[in-house]
Amino acid sequence: MRGGARSSRAAPRAGTAVTATLLILNAAEVVTMDGPAPDATRPDDAAPLGCIPNGAVAVDGERIVAVGRTEDIERTYGASPGAVRIDARGAVVAPGLIDAHTHAAFLGDRAHEHALRLRGATYAETAAAGGGIASTVRAVRAATDDTVEQALRARLARMRSFGVTTVEAKSGYGLDTETEVRLLRAIRRVRASGETRVFSTFLPLHAVDPDLRSMPGGRERFVKRCSDETLPAALAEAPDFVDAYVDSTGFSVAECRPLLERAAAAGLSARLHVGQFADVGGAELAAEMLAASADHLEHVSDAGARAMAAAGVVGILLPGAAFSLGQPMPDARRLRSLGMEIALATDCNPGTSPTENLPLMATFAVRQMGLSIVEAWWGLTRAPARSLRRDDLGVLRVGALADVCVLDLPTWEALPYQFGSALARYTIVGGKT
Ligand SMILES: [Zn+2]
Repeated sequence: MRGGARSSRAAPRAGTAVTATLLILNAAEVVTMDGPAPDATRPDDAAPLGCIPNGAVAVDGERIVAVGRTEDIERTYGASPGAVRIDARGAVVAPGLIDAHTHAAFLGDRAHEHALRLRGATYAETAAAGGGIASTVRAVRAATDDTVEQALRARLARMRSFGVTTVEAKSGYGLDTETEVRLLRAIRRVRASGETRVFSTFLPLHAVDPDLRSMPGGRERFVKRCSDETLPAALAEAPDFVDAYVDSTGFSVAECRPLLERAAAAGLSARLHVGQFADVGGAELAAEMLAASADHLEHVSDAGARAMAAAGVVGILLPGAAFSLGQPMPDARRLRSLGMEIALATDCNPGTSPTENLPLMATFAVRQMGLSIVEAWWGLTRAPARSLRRDDLGVLRVGALADVCVLDLPTWEALPYQFGSALARYTIVGGKT
């Protein structure tokens, strides 16, 4: 089956006004993603895609008002005065893709570090030699707010060329209170522009502030400062989530817990970096905290993965980082068999995953991580939306936000096949092209 054709939703309820401000018509396929969650035992079942051949989407303002076959949408909404019409002939129309794990608010590049790693240096060795997160922290601290904002906006624009309409962006390159707050402010300003839908995450426990690292007791002071001083200051910039790097190269569960508990009391759910290099109990912590997501997961026990699945924690896999570091890819098939819902993200960052290409992560996932193409689509749409605690994103259905991408693909199966290219003919955010 080519993707479960479904009945038309074009017919409006009696008494409702039949107007649209935007019509997307004649799509080879509309991939609504309005189907059931993928079943790990039947990963190729296309029902989750809710695919409509010769499909169309009608939008009124910032919301979707109808999804169905072109002839039905045309009949009901075709006469809407002043509606913008997009001809999606030969294209796949899908929910705007969602990149739910990025560090896209950064400056500077670390190409030399990459070159050193190619010559055999480990990530830890390049970090000890003045590279690593500390080098990005220096670049960000030295920059003006405008420069950070411009760099982020430029990256989000390139991400839109791949069909990405929602991006989560983390702080974590300030590490002192002042710069962490400045980063969150830059993210908030870019969010206000509305060009891309942006979620902001406060990530103070990313690495120890280089100014404190070599001081006696500096690490303990830093960890305490993150929850006692940096968190209260950060809340003024209205972050959506809190994050911490729970790993052998980051912070222990005991170090992360006070920050996460104080943040939870202030209403912030957690998204955590877990098990990139070693399993130090981060998956169990994510489950206990009812975290929105736990991300990386190269090293996670069966028990940890099952605990996450039972607690509804989305697993976000970041193949770009494993690829760049020359590490084995996260084993998505194993995590699916343990019951986990899987999202894919770029981890866009200058050290370990300097990519802005989310569909490329789907290519890695289907070729090297054991996901089916259907599960990969879910991992770019519904799963990341759930990790952002939103059910009106990542899906094309009546009432959802009109975040849509029109991709130059003949069929949904071509998404991970045509790797590396910029695919989007149009991206639409909140009904605006
Ligand atoms: Zn990350």
